[in-house]
Amino acid sequence: MSVQPDGVRREIPFARFTACDTLSAMAGFTNPALYAFVALIGEGCTLAEVRITPHCGGFDLRHVADSSASDDDLLLMEIAALRALAQATAEGDFRPNKAAPNLRRGWRCSVRDVQELESALRQLYPGALADWYAAQSPTPPITSYRDLAARQTGLYRITQILPDTLAAQATVACCDSRFCLRRRLWTVPGLPPDPVEAKSVIPCLEPCSQLLDFARCAMKLEQQPKAEFTPAEGDVAVLVNALETALENPKPGVREGSSADPANPRRLRLLLEKLRPLLPAGVKAEE
Ligand code: SF4
Repeated sequence: MSVQPDGVRREIPFARFTACDTLSAMAGFTNPALYAFVALIGEGCTLAEVRITPHCGGFDLRHVADSSASDDDLLLMEIAALRALAQATAEGDFRPNKAAPNLRRGWRCSVRDVQELESALRQLYPGALADWYAAQSPTPPITSYRDLAARQTGLYRITQILPDTLAAQATVACCDSRFCLRRRLWTVPGLPPDPVEAKSVIPCLEPCSQLLDFARCAMKLEQQPKAEFTPAEGDVAVLVNALETALENPKPGVREGSSADPANPRRLRLLLEKLRPLLPAGVKAEE
């Protein structure tokens, strides 16, 4: 089963892509991932936050939230400028994760052919097409949390000793769709892959450096002395509510990659994940 750019699931045997390599070469481009992707665009598709629409023999790219905006209201950008666009948020903060759902709006890019499309997507979502294509393989190159952590040395060796529950909580927090639109295909014991509906078709084949850093932070927190605090169930509900509100209204200026900052939204999400099991059953049912 394959998930296509428009989110539709359809059977696409990997062998078909391999057979298409010859056709792609005949068509003037040799990247099978690009060829497979272009074949599925149809009348338009959305890749994470970018809307791709066939236009005048090429393609129009823009932020999906600007899909219905007039061309005149959007800044026309060259392909080379997309790299800088993807580097920073609208507030000017660095975007360490290019799949974070905070790509700037207000632009459009017109590409003339599939090679330019590949170039443009490479600026916006580095590695996305190759990963998407690799994920179609009968044996996708997926590395689990445990396998990746086992290879860590130095500062990140600590990621090996997270208990399964904490590793799963840290993953849920770090990979939340508020922070990353890659669909996690790798697993931690007790945590299945992300459903495609929750994110985008760009797959995540192994834990990224941001995840490892966050797992390290979660383990460091776990090793700290514990404060004595036994909240009533009603107070847990208050804390959960406060965290959800804070997540919806993140503090400005917090660096996305700074796991050590207690105001980092991923830290709030981790605490939320730890508190939720303590909620009374009635409150859980309302979620
Ligand atoms: S590990 Fe998580 S945060 Fe990192 S790219 Fe994958 S899904 Fe996104």
